[in-house]
Amino acid sequence: MEKILKGKLVIENILENLKKQQKKRKLGVFRVGDDPGSSYYLKSIIKNADEVGITVDTLELEENNTEEKIKKSLKTMAKSKKVDGILIMEPLPENMNINDLIEIIGKDLDVEGMHPYNLGKLLMGHPTIIPSTPGAVLELMKYYDIDTTGKDTVIIGRSNIVGKPLANLLLRKAPLGNATVTVCHSKTKDIKNVSKKADILIVAIGQAEFVTGEFVKEGAIVIDVGTNEKNGKMVGDVHFESVETKAKAITPVPGGVGSITTAMLLSNLYKL
Ligand code: NAP
Repeated sequence: MEKILKGKLVIENILENLKKQQKKRKLGVFRVGDDPGSSYYLKSIIKNADEVGITVDTLELEENNTEEKIKKSLKTMAKSKKVDGILIMEPLPENMNINDLIEIIGKDLDVEGMHPYNLGKLLMGHPTIIPSTPGAVLELMKYYDIDTTGKDTVIIGRSNIVGKPLANLLLRKAPLGNATVTVCHSKTKDIKNVSKKADILIVAIGQAEFVTGEFVKEGAIVIDVGTNEKNGKMVGDVHFESVETKAKAITPVPGGVGSITTAMLLSNLYKL
């Protein structure tokens, strides 16, 4: 296995498969406000979508719209039957709850796999839409032939979009499952020693370079989901230099898991 698990080859593989699809799809993107991070993400979605022949239909609203108006616009988009799936971009205005908006688009347009019905199926181990970031982690593992069966796998972070679905996916009785999963969070005691037991360590906490070499067992595989800005540079949740010397393999930031997420989102459009 390569030491640096880059996302580039994984993405090419996913996009090549999407190019072969006969029926072209349309992705709806719903966005409120003009957060720079989400502008960057949207650009990368449009670029990748263009490459595989997917059309992106973006509905952008200003942040000062009322909640009622925002919900009504989303309802109209969902009912129009013009798109095959809808991505709701975050961040949303502070008073708005993403879960309410996901309920509006419903399970059939839920390209992010965040509708309670789809997440429920995921929990039960049934085939369903897999949220794109956990999906990116699995796709990376598949590409680099990482065996998860029986492996002590520690996930740091328990968010609904990364840690929780990923933990459930890795628990499935399935290839890329059957792991022994421990999930850590901000209240976990002695997180360093818990992480040190991991054969596979996955970090998604949003704390720049939090995980150093001291958290990592010699020969572990380390997957960094984090994307943070530090001194004008993008860095992960893992301190790359100190962890690289101990790990058997490690994902870089940028150019690792994050870069695969967009391709997984587009791939979900076909699964819906
Ligand atoms: P989130 O919703 O803020 O959740 C963070 C999780 O990390 C929480 O469970 C929190 O614990 C835990 N945590 C925070 N600080 C901790 C600490 N010091 N020790 C242990 N646990 C800690 O974050 P998220 O949305 O999952 O995102 C996590 C990271 O992944 C971010 O850097 C984000 O940018 C990145 N991300 C990347 C992609 C992508 O590449 N496409 C997609 C999604 C997220 P509590 O639950 O106890 O608060």
